[in-house]
Amino acid sequence: MIRIPMLINGEWVGDDNHEWLPVFNPSNGEQLAEIVKGTKNHVDEAVTAANIAFESDEWKKVKPFERGQLLISFANFIRENAEEWSKWECEDVGKPISQARADVEAAARYFEFYGGAADKVMGSTIPIEEGILNVTVLEPLGVTAHIVPWNYPLQIISRSVAAAIATGNAVIVKSAEDTPMTAHAIAKWFSTSDFPKGIFQHVTGLGADVGAPLAGHPDIEHVTFTGSVPTGIAVMKAAAANVVTVTLELGGKSPNIVFADASVEKSTEAVVRAIIQNAGQTCSAGSRLLIEAKYKDEFLSKLTAKFNALTIGPGSSDPDIGPILNEKQFNQIMNKIEEAKSVGKIICGGEAVTIEGSEGGYYIKPTIIDGLDHNHSLAQEEIFGPVLTVFTFKDVEEAIQLANGTDYGLVTGIWTENINVAHYVASKVKSGQVFINNYGAAGGIQMPFGGYKKSGIGREKGFVALNNYTQIKNIAVKFSI
Ligand code: NAD
Repeated sequence: MIRIPMLINGEWVGDDNHEWLPVFNPSNGEQLAEIVKGTKNHVDEAVTAANIAFESDEWKKVKPFERGQLLISFANFIRENAEEWSKWECEDVGKPISQARADVEAAARYFEFYGGAADKVMGSTIPIEEGILNVTVLEPLGVTAHIVPWNYPLQIISRSVAAAIATGNAVIVKSAEDTPMTAHAIAKWFSTSDFPKGIFQHVTGLGADVGAPLAGHPDIEHVTFTGSVPTGIAVMKAAAANVVTVTLELGGKSPNIVFADASVEKSTEAVVRAIIQNAGQTCSAGSRLLIEAKYKDEFLSKLTAKFNALTIGPGSSDPDIGPILNEKQFNQIMNKIEEAKSVGKIICGGEAVTIEGSEGGYYIKPTIIDGLDHNHSLAQEEIFGPVLTVFTFKDVEEAIQLANGTDYGLVTGIWTENINVAHYVASKVKSGQVFINNYGAAGGIQMPFGGYKKSGIGREKGFVALNNYTQIKNIAVKFSI
């Protein structure tokens, strides 16, 4: 049994005097680890330590390029230990090991990318008038909070923490109560690194006990949150009380729009991968298929054949589809599938499956639902499982109307050989990322990622995310002789 203490002010916090919460392996339901059930007091201690670390001479004298070098050395460490880290992520989240490996490489790339950017975050000189030198300086914010969900813990921690530390902030990570393993691995590295204590801290526990006090703490300067819409709204309200900024990434109901001239082989394969990645437990999953009406029968017959050929099993066996996180998530998905049976039509899947040797895990067959009214909640809200909903359109305008017809706007895939149609649709969809003849599910680390509408506020990834963690000071110097 792995015991995961918190890292607060450079010390491991967690002993027999603390309450502990179990963490399970979704692939087989066995207990994997336990975390400290943190409290508001732990949050207060971490915020105090982070502010002391941020203001310390020790931190201020670390030059930007040195911060960058330290982050790049961490990237190298992650790569050197990639197999071990992949195994932790696979066991913790249940995801297929090859997807866990991809997450580990992405984490290394985040620390490398933002490490490289650390000494390239620059202000500007602004012409005012003769005798005035006007410059802007980009300063770190101070202490930033990073509240993380359970579906991509390593990637989601890495993308914001790397950007925040590269720009000189002190960070506090609140990992998801279900998936703390790689957050702890990151904490272990920081605890022995040359970063001053308190620059990286890790707190664990329940959202209400730890996440809420962190989001609302008066000495935090920014909150980066990924998770559900209701919690995102609560986080934003808490931050608003202190007039601090937030970055919110709250999920989606992302469409793949397939026109009749699209390559059936490439587009069916991409539509499959876009919904089954991490068993559909992906904010940027391609969970709606919008298909040109005249192409529907041909496309769906190929798609269904591919769905029926997908393998399901424990993450370690590297199937196409791993388990659902836990019983609660499983029940939510199965209830929605049951509802679909009465208001739509199940084309394939639509049932749970027991995996021999992994009976304690929760597995669902990849499912296609047709015949839903697009206004129905199943078409509008995340199902967060390997479940694709299908709708048809007659022309370009109807495709755009459907694509924009939810409260979300995270990712859109467009499939056509017609360059005019592709660019026209790309210009009209209300979506933070658009993929034409490919589907990246959030894409590479250099691409800005975030949502229109209720998918969130702000952008992560790429250079633009560095702005989340800096503020501009304008300095005007009047000179004369
Ligand atoms: P959640 O929003 O409840 O939790 C995300 C994180 O926020 C966790 O670390 C949690 O402990 C913390 N938290 C919970 N309540 C909080 C509060 N009041 N203040 C501050 N932090 C709080 O999401 P979840 O329980 O992990 O998943 C629920 C649903 O969210 C899923 O079914 C799915 O629809 C959605 N989800 C979206 C994403 C995404 O990437 N957009 C990721 C995971 C889950």
